[in-house]
Amino acid sequence: MARLPRSGIRRVFDEASKYPDCIRLEVGEPSFPTPEHVKAAAREAMSSNFTRYTPNAGILDLREAIVEKVARRNDITATTDDVVVTNGGVEAVFTTLSAMVNPGDEVLISDPSWPNYLQMTVLLGVQAVYYPLRLEHDLVPTVEDIESRITPRTKVLLLNSPGNPTGSSIPAQRLREILDMARRHDLWVVSDEVYDEIYFDEPPVSTQALDTDGRTVTVFSFSKTYAMTGWRVGYLVGPRDIVSHILRIQEPVTSCVNSVAQKAAVAALTGDQTCVAEMRAAYASRAGLVTGILDRHGIPYARPSGAFYTMVDVTRSGMSDVDFVSRMISEKRVSVVPGSAFGPGSGAFVRVSLASHEDDLNAGVTRLAEALDSWGS
Ligand code: PLP
Repeated sequence: MARLPRSGIRRVFDEASKYPDCIRLEVGEPSFPTPEHVKAAAREAMSSNFTRYTPNAGILDLREAIVEKVARRNDITATTDDVVVTNGGVEAVFTTLSAMVNPGDEVLISDPSWPNYLQMTVLLGVQAVYYPLRLEHDLVPTVEDIESRITPRTKVLLLNSPGNPTGSSIPAQRLREILDMARRHDLWVVSDEVYDEIYFDEPPVSTQALDTDGRTVTVFSFSKTYAMTGWRVGYLVGPRDIVSHILRIQEPVTSCVNSVAQKAAVAALTGDQTCVAEMRAAYASRAGLVTGILDRHGIPYARPSGAFYTMVDVTRSGMSDVDFVSRMISEKRVSVVPGSAFGPGSGAFVRVSLASHEDDLNAGVTRLAEALDSWGS
């Protein structure tokens, strides 16, 4: 526990909370409410006393809806036995890693990456080994950068596409190359695709759709797609031999997901998908707004193709990312997350969240760009 790192995002949150007029661009959750028909399904579940324990893997109608969704949207062929409903994507990543590793193993994670991965490796007593994502490659991993970090102890490769905090998606050809490499070294692949429905150009390709020998477990979530962060419903899909182990972990850890939230999730997947398209369009428009401001000021950034983040290069400020963020909060009243919160090699960046309202993004990113113009050497 002493080695468990504190989230750098939480630190920014605490600092920004001291200023009520601060524009908050550090948030990682949708600005939209949960769609009405989803809430109605939850009310109905409660009224009809659907309030008991469910099977560990999740209720059958939800797993059936998931099987249909991953076939339609992710090109993944699965049966209801290959699916586990989890308490958000976060629990899915944790139980999957738990099933795959022994203490002392190494897990490859990207720098930058979602900080919870590092925290999980600490809890599991395994070694996180970072592979770099480079701005010149649009923060998309290369085989060379991953393969050069593999040792005999490497057990798992974690991928995240579309990515937090990168906003980048890994193209199909790169995924194929990465899978070939994983096969050469006999690695498990955990593919975090919780942002699969938030994309701005082509829909992202699922790693598992290209996996030819059953080494990939994919993690999905309702949190971002349906603005359901507080409901805590996610799911994983994978080869049955590993999923059966993950399922056994479900019992002592959480037993099952909230029954009412599972019914809400069924309504989310089987109901009208217009809400998803509307939110996607809103994020795309915000991405255009932010990149337009950055382009006008000639500020380098990773062009977002999905999720709702972009990494902005702040090296021209002449400050560390942490000092830059502190000064942005205290002088400009804008909060963003320092890149080093996502990995030791990512201090050139700050993360701007496109989950914030358009007016806030416009004002906040303009102030950030002006600060870079005036503070820079
Ligand atoms: N994976 C990534 C990359 C995330 O950014 C998040 C949430 O921010 C999650 C997984 C987990 O989300 P949830 O547990 O709400 O499904």
